[in-house]
Amino acid sequence: MSTFKAPKGTYDLIPPESADFLAVREALSAPLRRAGYGYTETPGFEQVELFARGVGESTDIVTKEMYTLTTKGGDELALRPEGTASVLRAALEASLHKSGNLPVKLWYSGSYYRYERPQKGRYRHFSQVGAEAIGAEDPALDAELIILAHDAYRSLGLRGFRILLNSLGDKECRPVYRAALQEFLRRLDLDEDTRRRIDINPLRVLDDKRESVQRQLTDAPMMRDHLCEGCKSYHEQVREQLTAADVQYEDDPRLVRGLDYYTRTTFEFVHDGLGSQSAVGGGGRYDGLSEMLGGPPLPSVGWALGVDRTVLALRAEGVELQLPSSTDVFAVPIGEEARRALFRVVTALRREGVAADFAYGGKGMKNAMKSANRSGARYALLAGERDLAESVAQLKDLQSGEQTAVPLDRVVSEVRAKLA
Ligand code: AMP
Repeated sequence: MSTFKAPKGTYDLIPPESADFLAVREALSAPLRRAGYGYTETPGFEQVELFARGVGESTDIVTKEMYTLTTKGGDELALRPEGTASVLRAALEASLHKSGNLPVKLWYSGSYYRYERPQKGRYRHFSQVGAEAIGAEDPALDAELIILAHDAYRSLGLRGFRILLNSLGDKECRPVYRAALQEFLRRLDLDEDTRRRIDINPLRVLDDKRESVQRQLTDAPMMRDHLCEGCKSYHEQVREQLTAADVQYEDDPRLVRGLDYYTRTTFEFVHDGLGSQSAVGGGGRYDGLSEMLGGPPLPSVGWALGVDRTVLALRAEGVELQLPSSTDVFAVPIGEEARRALFRVVTALRREGVAADFAYGGKGMKNAMKSANRSGARYALLAGERDLAESVAQLKDLQSGEQTAVPLDRVVSEVRAKLA
């Protein structure tokens, strides 16, 4: 142990568990890559103002959870707490929306930072895979994203997740609903903070987890009953597309992503094996965000899936990912001359695409074989003085124990043939 530890609320990804994380990232993004989404990477930090506007001044993320810093040059920056604002900023900056090819479909993967109270499934540094489809209003696009996330989770073997679905209306019907909700909320017995929230962001009050608040909300007006004809029919089409794709969902009229520019489709993926931090992913339509960032009107939809919680969900379900072994061949030389000869073979194997490793550090035969077994390799490649005299090495199948002598210059082709 060193004097230092990973900061509070963070953890390291190290082998062997890190292989699962890599596989989850890969699986969550694979359906996107097959659906025309292009890879996007943005800086780990942005101007504070981008998130203040892009996430919302009244959200916990902005008011309490951002890691902010002032640079030596006097810039106010924040470590990114989420991906949408950055990705939309990047798309606008590069004028991707002017290519005449809408929607612009982008996917991303990376680290996010929120100063939250750490607990299982809630960290200060976490990892997301996300997708944004920018510049199109089409129920099939909303459905596409939900289907892709669904298929990604299924491809990992996850079964115990549910999809919650709602519509938040648009700039026509939402303000009417908002006013009705405010009027209702003002009559309740609420603390001062919550009262302030009624003015700034009343929908978020619906999301309050406290029993004392929820108890008073049973008769609250619901967006569902205030949707305009356009929103109703849009939502109906999203639902039809999901059903046609065999994707089951639950209507959840209380699901809000309480920001004013979130519109229409909103959804969350929850997993019941995760305790209180049950959301494994979420997203929705944000038709007003581009304009909030100073861009043109660009109706868009996106999601972000949490890698950490997806890994926890896999563990909760007892799903073992079938990962290919990271080493195919492990070389065990006996003696100096064999070290030189087998090291050359290992290099040749790697250049031909075979995953190979070597017993470094002058280990004795017994320790070297232990390393070979621990590496998960299918084959050990052994050679001693007698083998070298005959220009062969012994290829040992570590599963069956069977061993055959192979001429040194044919090891690569032999191994490739066996692995194929
Ligand atoms: P959000 O932008 O809050 O909807 O986050 C999207 C997804 O990221 C969530 O569904 C979680 O899976 C994941 N996530 C968000 N915050 C955290 C956190 N503090 N720790 C771990 N995962 C998180």
